[in-house]
Amino acid sequence: MTHSSPHANSPSPQRVPVVVIGAGPAGLTVGNILRAASIDCVVLEAESRKFIEQRPRAGVIEEWAVRGLEQRGLAGNLLERAQRHTMCEFRFGGRGHRFPYTELTGHHHFVYPQPLLVTDLVREYADVRGGDIRFGVRDVRLHNTDTDRPSVSYLCPETGRRQLIHCDFVAGCDGARGVTRSALPPERTRIARHDYGIGWLALLAEAPPSSDCVLFGVHPHGFAGHMARSPEVTRYYLQCPPGDDPENWSHERVWTELRQRLAAADAPPLTEGRLLEKRVLDMHDYVVEPMVSGRLFLAGDAAHLTAPIAAKGMNLALHDAFLLGDSLAAHLTKGDDSGLDGYSEACLRRVWDYQEFSQWLSDVYHGTASGDPYRAGTTLARLRRLFASPAAAAAFAEQYLGTAAQF
Ligand code: FAD
Repeated sequence: MTHSSPHANSPSPQRVPVVVIGAGPAGLTVGNILRAASIDCVVLEAESRKFIEQRPRAGVIEEWAVRGLEQRGLAGNLLERAQRHTMCEFRFGGRGHRFPYTELTGHHHFVYPQPLLVTDLVREYADVRGGDIRFGVRDVRLHNTDTDRPSVSYLCPETGRRQLIHCDFVAGCDGARGVTRSALPPERTRIARHDYGIGWLALLAEAPPSSDCVLFGVHPHGFAGHMARSPEVTRYYLQCPPGDDPENWSHERVWTELRQRLAAADAPPLTEGRLLEKRVLDMHDYVVEPMVSGRLFLAGDAAHLTAPIAAKGMNLALHDAFLLGDSLAAHLTKGDDSGLDGYSEACLRRVWDYQEFSQWLSDVYHGTASGDPYRAGTTLARLRRLFASPAAAAAFAEQYLGTAAQF
C-alpha cells in the first residue's frame, strides 16, 4: 500500500536519488553499483548487520552471476574462496548416476554461502564505497511512488521518530516478506502463484560433505538433497508434508531417512553431525508482473519467488540487481532511459524460464513418491533419458546452469 501523505517528525527530511529497501543480495548489489557510479543512495534494512551476515540460505551461484559480480568489482573473496562444482549426482534405483555438466558444457557452478556473499557486499558498500546503510529500521512506508516526487519514511530504531527521505527512485529489494510489493497498484499488477503442495525439511548439519558433488535422491519415500556449504557444514533437504512440524523430525529420524533416500551401491556412508538448522519450507512460487510502477522498481524475491527446488532464487535476484543498478546509473548519469524502460520485461524472461525449469525438476524429484504409479514411471523415464540421450543431457545442463544465450 502506498501511503500518500508522508508525515515525518524528523527535523530535516533528506534527499537522495535512490532509496533501496532491503539489504539482501539484490539491494546490496544495486547499492554497490550506484556507489561505483558516485550516485548517492540510502539502503534501509529491518534487521541488524550481524543478523543479515549470518542468515543461512543459498549456496549455489551460477557462473554468469559470478562474472556479473566480478565485472562490478564485487567477487574478490568469492573467486578466492568459493568451491567450483563440475557435476551433480542423481541417486535412484539404489545407484548413483553422475551428471558431468562441466564436461558437457565447459561451465560450472560456484558454491559460496549466501551469508558470506552478503558480508562481502555490505563491507564493500558501507566500508569501502562509503554507502549510507541504516539497520534495524521499523515500519517502512512508501509515498507517492506513482509521481516523480516519491519518498520513503521509517521509524528510526534509536529515537523512535519517523524519518523521511525524498528521492527520485525507490528500489524494492525487501524479499518475500517485505512491504514494497504491496505498494504496486492492484489494478495494474498481476501476481501469478503456484503451490507445489510439497514441503521440504531444510537442514544444516555440522558435518563435512559426504560427496564431492551435489546429490539428488529420488526415492519412493520422497526427495532428499545433499549440498556442500563449506568443509565443515552441509545442507540437506528431505521432502515432507507441507506445514509439517520440524519437531516431528528427531535427529535419528532425519539421519535414517537421509541414509535411505540417498543410498547408492558403493557410495561411502553419510557423515553425520549435529543439526544446526531444521525448518520446513512450503514449496511455492509467485511472479509479479510488471515489476515496476511509476518510480518503484522491484528486484529479487520482492518480485518473484522461486522455491529452492532448482536453487535459482539468489541468481535471479542478482540478475535483476545488475539490470536495475546499471539502468538507474545510466538514467541518473547520462539521461539514458532505455534500461529502465525495458527493465521488467528483461527480468521476467529469465524469471519465467527458471520457473518452468523449477516445475519440471519438481516433477522429477517428487514423482516417485507421489503414490501414483503412472507419475513414478514417467519420472524414472525422464531420469534415464538424461543419461541415455545427449540431446536431453545438453538441454538439462543448459537449464541447470542458466547458460541459454537468450531468454
Ligand atoms: P532477501 O535475501 O530476502 O533480502 C531482503 C532483505 O530485506 C532482508 O535482509 C530483509 O531483512 C529485508 N527486509 C524485509 N522487509 C523489510 C522492510 N519492511 N524494511 C526493510 N528491510 C526489509 N537461491 C539460489 O540462487 N541458490 C540456492 O542454492 C538457494 N538456496 C536456498 C535455500 C533456502 C533454504 C532458502 C530459504 C532460499 C534459497 N535460495 C537459493 C533463495 C535465495 O536465498 C533468495 O532468492 C535470495 O535471498 C533473494 O535475495 P533478495 O535480495 O531478493 O531477498
